[in-house]
Amino acid sequence: MASTMATAFAGLTLSSSAVEVCDLSRRHSSNLCSSSGTGSMRSTFFAKDCAPRRSLCGAVVEPWKLSTTRGRAAARCHAVRGLERAEASREVDDPDSLHQFVIVGAGIAGLATAAAMNKIGVKTLVLEQSAGLRTTGASLTLWSNAWRVLDVLGIGDELRSQHQPITGIRFFNQEEKLLKTFDLEECPGGPHELCSVERKLLANALASQLPRDAIRLNSRVVSIERESNTGPFVLTLSDGCVLRTRVLLGADGVNSVVGQWMGLAKTRYVGQVGIRGVAVYPAGQPYGDKIRQFLGRGVRAGLAPISSTKVYWFMVYNRSSPGTKVTDPAEVRAELLSMLDGWPQHMKELLDNTPLENISRAALADRWNLPGITAPVVQSGVTLAGDALHPMTPNLGQGGCCALEDAIILAQTLGVVLAQRAGGGDGDYDAITKAMEQYAAERQQRTFPLALKSFVFGALLQIGFAPVCFVRDNIAVPKIVRPSSFLSHTQYNCGQLPASLVVRD
Ligand SMILES: Cc1cc2nc3c(=O)[nH]c(=O)nc-3n(C[C@H](O)[C@H](O)[C@H](O)COP(=O)(O)OP(=O)(O)OC[C@H]3O[C@@H](n4cnc5c(N)ncnc54)[C@H](O)[C@@H]3O)c2cc1C
Repeated sequence: MASTMATAFAGLTLSSSAVEVCDLSRRHSSNLCSSSGTGSMRSTFFAKDCAPRRSLCGAVVEPWKLSTTRGRAAARCHAVRGLERAEASREVDDPDSLHQFVIVGAGIAGLATAAAMNKIGVKTLVLEQSAGLRTTGASLTLWSNAWRVLDVLGIGDELRSQHQPITGIRFFNQEEKLLKTFDLEECPGGPHELCSVERKLLANALASQLPRDAIRLNSRVVSIERESNTGPFVLTLSDGCVLRTRVLLGADGVNSVVGQWMGLAKTRYVGQVGIRGVAVYPAGQPYGDKIRQFLGRGVRAGLAPISSTKVYWFMVYNRSSPGTKVTDPAEVRAELLSMLDGWPQHMKELLDNTPLENISRAALADRWNLPGITAPVVQSGVTLAGDALHPMTPNLGQGGCCALEDAIILAQTLGVVLAQRAGGGDGDYDAITKAMEQYAAERQQRTFPLALKSFVFGALLQIGFAPVCFVRDNIAVPKIVRPSSFLSHTQYNCGQLPASLVVRD
């Protein structure tokens, strides 16, 4: 439990080197705002996006007034390079082009999947709603299971060189009395690897494995349709651009539009809010190479060294409702400051050393997918990855690690079929869907117990009832907790990419 508790929150940020534009096929449809359309199996148009807007091409787009004539008047989908907002361009897109594999979302899951697929010769296009790769969320603790994936993707050593290994974990109560301490090397099943990785560096490294035209920024998917039950998917973007793809992966996070289109329930707020940030110490950080976690009553806090000059920190507190989403870092900082009375001075110092842009807040949520009970996570030619598939609370520090694992398992299943059948016809949907089902079954077996365990740990650690906290601090954590057993889930090894398909540089 100790390790679990300590690693719950860690950090990331990205900037891409391989972000560019794609060719988008344009397909105009008259029913983009309806719930079903002629010839389409099902469509979802997200009403809040259904408003006139200026497209990236410079023209005002009114989605509900688009022409039905397929392929006509291909306006323009622009290109994006690096993290800069794209300039509009004037080329005409090929209206009949059909993408082989589109991934919605350039987070960890989307980028890692695209990188894994690229390594076995499967071309993907990643659509990202933002103007740049995600930089919020500061940092993530990545465990051995994630480092194995990063090595398979060829970016493990680069990231190791940018981060400091964490060697142990210390638990304190809120008054800073030491409750438990242990080093990773004491835990069986090692060597264990643990670093708090900056999100931007992870994203950069993943994006560096992709061709320059693999990521399309400013591309928010607002509508999904299908030409027939087993026909291509038709995606409409918020700028009115439309593109078609044979295979679709929703890697679009906890509020996945692809998941909603597939009928999955929304995530469930678990009654906790997390605030996190990255403190910067240009002259050297004072926290060495150990994670520290402070257990309070209904609230806990912690810190994890990222490098010699950066430290990731977090605070999680109970709150009956998530309240309105707070995105202004100044507001988040003020909220945190108001809670720091009675906490170790470290937390105040960390906050003082944290640039505003490094602070963020998230209402914690999860969803438990139960095969046969909840909506299926695979439908013909479409499935999910990362938080879209298995949203879990961060108490085990495993959401991002599992998103990385998804990428390799997808390449081993779906990737093999796509690599062997490049350009195949509709009949291939059987093989594609079977491969997706194999992937989903493997991931369900792996991630469901983690989501459950993470939820239970969070609930126990966040208990606010003083007598229970007394037992936790004086008996449970110091005497009963055996941290080693909680590293067992980090020993998962998702294996290698299919050797016969790996494209050599
Ligand atoms: C407080 C906290 C602490 C955490 N700590 C850890 C940790 O220590 N270790 C760990 O492994 N995990 C941790 N996690 C979990 C981790 O952050 C997530 O599991 C991980 O980010 C999931 O990656 P993803 O790619 O699935 O989703 P995301 O990172 O959310 O990426 C989804 C992407 O899809 C894009 N998108 C969304 N909708 C659309 C659309 N309609 N069209 C186009 N693009 C779209 C988004 O802009 C985003 O870029 C933590 C989570 C929280 C909340």
